Amino acid sequence: MKTYTNNNSVSPTSVICSVLGHKYRSTRKITNHFSEYQCRCCGKQMTEDTRGRLISLTPELRDINETLNMIFRRRQIHI
Ligand SMILES: [Zn+2]
Repeated sequence: MKTYTNNNSVSPTSVICSVLGHKYRSTRKITNHFSEYQCRCCGKQMTEDTRGRLISLTPELRDINETLNMIFRRRQIHI
């Protein structure tokens, strides 16, 4: 029997997360105030907005974080 997966299917881990909540761990420090997080259960990636709330890590936000991280690291070197 063949199984098919698509974006509309609900994985068992995402059901667990929807009931118990995601278990995020920090995966990358962008600056002193921003980090990226990933759920240990379903792998969902999140980042922080300017108010410190967790929001979904979209490709656009990943690009912004990459730029922020580059600026942050450059400043660390010059301090
Ligand atoms: Zn999760």
